Amino acid sequence: MKPFRLASRESESQDTIVEINTPRGAVRIGEGYCTVIAGPCAVEGREEYLQVAQSLQEMGVHILRGGAFKPRTSPYSFAGLGKEGLEILAEAREITGLPVVTEVLDTRDIDLVYRYADILQVGSRNMQNFSLLQEVGRADKPVVLKRGFAATMEEWLLAAEYILASGNRQVILCERGIRTFETYTRHTVDLGAVPLLKELSHLPVIVDPSHATGYWRMVRPVAKAAVAAGADGLMVEVHQRPECALSDGQQSLTPENFAHLWDEVRKIAELEGKRY
Ligand code: PEP
Ligand code: MN
Repeated sequence: MKPFRLASRESESQDTIVEINTPRGAVRIGEGYCTVIAGPCAVEGREEYLQVAQSLQEMGVHILRGGAFKPRTSPYSFAGLGKEGLEILAEAREITGLPVVTEVLDTRDIDLVYRYADILQVGSRNMQNFSLLQEVGRADKPVVLKRGFAATMEEWLLAAEYILASGNRQVILCERGIRTFETYTRHTVDLGAVPLLKELSHLPVIVDPSHATGYWRMVRPVAKAAVAAGADGLMVEVHQRPECALSDGQQSLTPENFAHLWDEVRKIAELEGKRY
């Protein structure tokens, strides 16, 4: 028996498919699907967010993203709009009919974020925040669990185990790059993690090529490689004007560049026999 009992293939031979019900039908994440989450790093303002959300919906994105509570390295950087950001996300969901995912940084914010989000995100920096994992594990909404940037596969799966063991079986693993000796990229993307996780676990696996590379020109090729490696979907940062973004502009795609990515990724998804 693997130490990550509930996350392991041995405990569950059937692939977990996470399902989110929307007025337009169910959005699914898991084996057999290529599900795309897109949106800016942070929700920066109402007009900007609604605009980008609408163009993403028109392009066929399945889920919108946007941080309202941002984990920032510097305490002086923009840390998100908080509750106002969540209200904007809810309005975008109303208008587009798309579900929204947003990060919950702190156990104290879970009730608030839960009220607005369709999917809760636990970020890389919080992957081993065990009390946060247990709290989202008590929620009845799916959780995107990003890989800690210094976490091994086993530590990551044990973090997922905390959520599963607390009762929440709707966990989506998101590879977002790890820290290595390389400095030309923000992180080093571990695409080998995708087939490995598919072997070790029944949980859906998605890849975030934006944080994984830190550089917008690398996002499209890495996104394609991720889907070719068997990822069940992607999380991509898209901003109307990346040069003006309050966070992660250098890795954000314009809506036009995202359209190009999605055109190419769809072809690979078809080759892989995935629905989107
Ligand atoms: C994010 O997706 O908003 C984010 C902060 O990513 P990560 O936790 O992977 O750094
Ligand atoms: Mn970001």
